[in-house]
Amino acid sequence: MKSTISSKLQERCQGLCELCSTDKATSAYAVSPKNNDVIENEVALCDQCLSVIEGKEAGNHWQCLAGSIWNAEPSVLALSYRILYGLKDNEWANELLTSVDFDETVITWAVSAFQKDAVHLDSNGTELQNGDTIILTQGLNVKGANFMAPKGTIVRKIRLVPDNPEQIEGKVNEQTIVILTKFVKKSA
Ligand SMILES: [Zn+2]
Repeated sequence: MKSTISSKLQERCQGLCELCSTDKATSAYAVSPKNNDVIENEVALCDQCLSVIEGKEAGNHWQCLAGSIWNAEPSVLALSYRILYGLKDNEWANELLTSVDFDETVITWAVSAFQKDAVHLDSNGTELQNGDTIILTQGLNVKGANFMAPKGTIVRKIRLVPDNPEQIEGKVNEQTIVILTKFVKKSA
């Protein structure tokens, strides 16, 4: 998403594109999934960098990121990392990616653009949804809860663990436990 440059952002970038730092900054580009509500989410871009980003036309233009990966702003780092990550089959891009110790939060922000929503599949490859009923396909030793859930146990109203497609949560013996999707079968 892009919008006009606020005076605060103008001050931060000193009128210059925060990626190539040569051309005049003309747009405030919000690094997804964030939007233009605060300048911490934005990168000031020149017309050329913006058009290359939007057109996904890589070329040699992105060699300029060798400078922007040393920027102090997380939004500039996340955008630089994201672009380089998309080009990482090129040796120079890969070298730049590994030349800086990026903060974990910057990397997470950057690669969010490449992550698809996780799909949870049962042991048969059937997609699971929140609220489904499943059957355990093998006995589970529930750590810390001191009981064994036998094979064939029915678990109703499961919850998908959002950031881990291999895990769901469900209630067994009145306790909510984490269950691996490979040990369950969706109940018809
Ligand atoms: Zn630029």
